[in-house]
Amino acid sequence: MAHIIDGKAISQQIKDELKEEAARLKEAGKTACLAVIQVGKDPASSVYVNNKKKACAYIGIESLSYELEETVSEEELLSLIRDLNGNPAVNGILVQLPLPAHIDEFKVIQTISPEKDVDGFHEKNVGALNTGGKGFVSCTPAGIIQLLKRSGISTAGKHCVVIGRSNIVGKPAAALMLRENATVTICHSRTQNLKEMTRQADILIVAMGRPKAIDADYVKDGAVVIDVGIHRMENGKLCGDVDYASVEPKASYITPVPGGVGPMTIAMLMENCMSAIR
Ligand code: NAD
Repeated sequence: MAHIIDGKAISQQIKDELKEEAARLKEAGKTACLAVIQVGKDPASSVYVNNKKKACAYIGIESLSYELEETVSEEELLSLIRDLNGNPAVNGILVQLPLPAHIDEFKVIQTISPEKDVDGFHEKNVGALNTGGKGFVSCTPAGIIQLLKRSGISTAGKHCVVIGRSNIVGKPAAALMLRENATVTICHSRTQNLKEMTRQADILIVAMGRPKAIDADYVKDGAVVIDVGIHRMENGKLCGDVDYASVEPKASYITPVPGGVGPMTIAMLMENCMSAIR
């Protein structure tokens, strides 16, 4: 039976630590401020944006909300970002993705000042992560590292296999595990013999976006399994990329879905906002 990594409890612990820090900094006259931009009214995006605003309110971070029409031009959005870049009262800028097709997501991300890019998506921050420099780190992978550390799981010298090479999860997760001195293998949709690779993993991070794709056959006895995937099933319940019922008896540690990696993303966003004013 695996030890279940409680992402809900760990994220709450982080938020409470940040709340205390925010109160201390407030006494010294410093308050963090996050500007959140949403384009259009996608219901899933609205839920994410609201959760971010709620987390800000809980911790004592100010949040500014910009709700733009789906039809807003790219230039109007870029111009708002440039204004916020130049506004000294704003410490963090977040543009909720995805954006409508007529707006170039890459251009938008690169327009955010790297010093305010609390999502950690700007090329300068990605570069810093890969060269050992200082910068914001993408929130979901940063959350994975906190889950491991706060569960007392050592990473140095361990073989970590990451499934997925996206810019927001797979690649930064691999870079962070390397920084934590793991030996890292990245697998993706063109990887041959995926099972052979994953069975070598002491720590398996799954971010492939395929519901319940990884069962016990892919997992070494006693492995630590981190499931980043999140999917809504036909019965309305959530599941991950890992077949939890199959893998849990074989793993030493496992993250559930929901309540594993998911809650960590917002906690790490809050951490990034606070680090912007430290
Ligand atoms: P993505 O679709 O951008 O990337 C998926 C990756 O998986 C790709 O690199 C692809 O090469 C790889 N892949 C796909 N099929 C594969 C296969 N059969 N074998 C091996 N590799 C395969 O997805 P993403 O944005 O990285 O997200 C991954 C999952 O994590 C999704 O389910 C997403 O909803 C979830 N997610 C959760 C959070 C969170 O806060 N919990 C945050 C971001 C993403």
